[in-house]
Amino acid sequence: MSGKADPRAAGEGTTSRTRLDRGRGALGPALELVHTGRAPTRAVLTAELGVTRATAGAVAAELEALGLIRVDARPGAAAGSQGRPSHRLSIAEDGPVALAAQVHADGFRAALVGLGGRIVATAPGCEVVDADPAKVLASVVETGAELLRETGRRCVGAGLAVPSAVAEPEGLALNPLHLAWPAGAPVRRIFAEQVRAAGIAGPAFAANDVNLAALAEHRHGAGRGARDLLCVATGHRGVGGALVLDGRLHSGSSGLALEVGHLTVNPDGRPCYCGGHGCLDVEADPLAFLRAAGREPGPEVSLLQQSYDLIRDHYADPAVRTATETLVDRLGLGLAGLVNILNPDRIILGGLHRALLDAAPERLRAVVADRSLWGQSGGVPILPCGLDHNSLVGAAELAWQPVLDDPLGALT
Ligand SMILES: [Zn+2]
Repeated sequence: MSGKADPRAAGEGTTSRTRLDRGRGALGPALELVHTGRAPTRAVLTAELGVTRATAGAVAAELEALGLIRVDARPGAAAGSQGRPSHRLSIAEDGPVALAAQVHADGFRAALVGLGGRIVATAPGCEVVDADPAKVLASVVETGAELLRETGRRCVGAGLAVPSAVAEPEGLALNPLHLAWPAGAPVRRIFAEQVRAAGIAGPAFAANDVNLAALAEHRHGAGRGARDLLCVATGHRGVGGALVLDGRLHSGSSGLALEVGHLTVNPDGRPCYCGGHGCLDVEADPLAFLRAAGREPGPEVSLLQQSYDLIRDHYADPAVRTATETLVDRLGLGLAGLVNILNPDRIILGGLHRALLDAAPERLRAVVADRSLWGQSGGVPILPCGLDHNSLVGAAELAWQPVLDDPLGALT
């Protein structure tokens, strides 16, 4: 018997390496399945990848060796509905993180985000956003570097969310008007320089905040499983939109698609900085809501927070209710136009628009149904965004992408 045992033990390593050679191409897809919660067990992973059990086992073991996931083989740990219990797969609790940063009209926030879209640590910074992007980005990167020092986590890279269209391939913030940054500021280059200067390893990325929110929601939140996902959201000022098609952001030929803020929803409305009148951007954002409710926006907390507070605490006030309905009607008109053009299978709303949906869901669905061909009879589900800080989680997705594409190449 011992004569058989030795060659088998020697062969085990060779076989497993051969299996991994065959399975190396499956490492990225496997990690993405665990990352997005679609492979909770090794049995599901095997089925989803369409490989042998042995290959799936080698792939899972390699991802565990890279410190990315945990393979739990304890009996009874698995939740297989039939047959033998399978090893449970989860994100490694102490694995690497991405540094995520978000700048908005009222300040910034930094976070460390692990696989699975998990926010490991986060810190806000509230300040008057400086007109010089380099100063703001230095502050937010320093806040992130401090979080990395505190947690001692390995960093795979950094992502930045900005409230502006970001032109590709240069990474220029074209219209950061609510920030008073110069139009066309090279935010990706500046962010990358700050990240390097802070001694943080890995590549650096930047993109529009609503695009990133949509990406995060598609992978981890209310957009999971949607094919053509439309996301419309307010940040602290203005209105943004994004479309995720077959799991990828539709960003247009140069990154500027889905500039939904300049749809006209009130022809007699207030002038917009784009030169038009009554755009969604100036008719359905937190500032428009506060004004419609007859409230003078105060400087204490963000416009978004003041709007949330008003809807939550003062909805019985007729002025607040009327303002809510006015904004719901304007938003519904904008969504109806988008439904006709894009034919999404799901719409998710974020920021103030989420609060409007929560306050008057039937009214919003009725406006969209009345005004759109494809939205009739409530044909398109309209749901609230589900993640806290989805733009930050999306910014982290950018930094995670090289690891998801090639775990071995990115981490060794
Ligand atoms: Zn406009």
